[in-house]
Amino acid sequence: MSDTHFGFSTVDEQAKAERVRGVFDSVASKYDVMNDLMSLGLHRFWKAYTVGVARVRPGDVVLDIAGGTGDLARAFAGPAGARGLVVHTDINEAMLRQGRDRLLDAGLVLPSLLCDGESLPFATGSFDLVSVAFGLRNMTHKEKALAEMARVLKPGGRLLVLEFSKVAAPLAKAYDWYSFNVLPRIGRWVAGDGESYRYLAESIRVHPDQETLKAMMKTAGFGHVDVHNLSAGVVALHVGIKC
Ligand code: SAM
Repeated sequence: MSDTHFGFSTVDEQAKAERVRGVFDSVASKYDVMNDLMSLGLHRFWKAYTVGVARVRPGDVVLDIAGGTGDLARAFAGPAGARGLVVHTDINEAMLRQGRDRLLDAGLVLPSLLCDGESLPFATGSFDLVSVAFGLRNMTHKEKALAEMARVLKPGGRLLVLEFSKVAAPLAKAYDWYSFNVLPRIGRWVAGDGESYRYLAESIRVHPDQETLKAMMKTAGFGHVDVHNLSAGVVALHVGIKC
């Protein structure tokens, strides 16, 4: 088995999967409030922008990978309508349960499926749109995951990857200070877990930057890839069209 990153640490691949599971088991019940606190509410804007770019239409069949507490699945369900289908998935049972409960609270009965983004249990060419928000960073084999996302899309279908990315140089120092000093403290006070939020900050630094991810998506089978920088590159939305 090869080694891989877990934040700034190098661990074997099995250990990474277990530690990522540990992070999300630990934060699941406080995930939404932490998202609002840590991003100062900006994650709502990043997701609303993604939903706008997605332009889901009535009858569309949509897959949300690493869907967690269900923000994107919930937003896609309305426009997909009764003729469409939105499938909410995650590898982590605790996160998936939180998401399923929130979807039910919003009056939405969607399929919530436990599945690994690196090995999708869907037939080739099943979906009009695939989304993955803040999930790709946690996957061990990103090339494999992107190839799976391409496989399950119909030709001409679109993949939306919303993820932390490389921030513009003038903001880098302030952003590092916030990430390594403030985030773990908020994690400790609110979620009782500073380490998971240190992992968050570290995993962002070892994630591919905008251009690298764009190249990876092209290699995975996306003929055209657009990159939308949000909040000066703190986050980027990559939109790939399957050839
Ligand atoms: N998409 C949600 C959002 O934007 O709020 C949740 C994002 S949360 C930061 C990352 C999610 O990725 C977690 O729910 C975690 O369980 C999931 N995840 C990690 N590795 C995964 C994998 N290999 N396949 C599917 N989901 C995975």
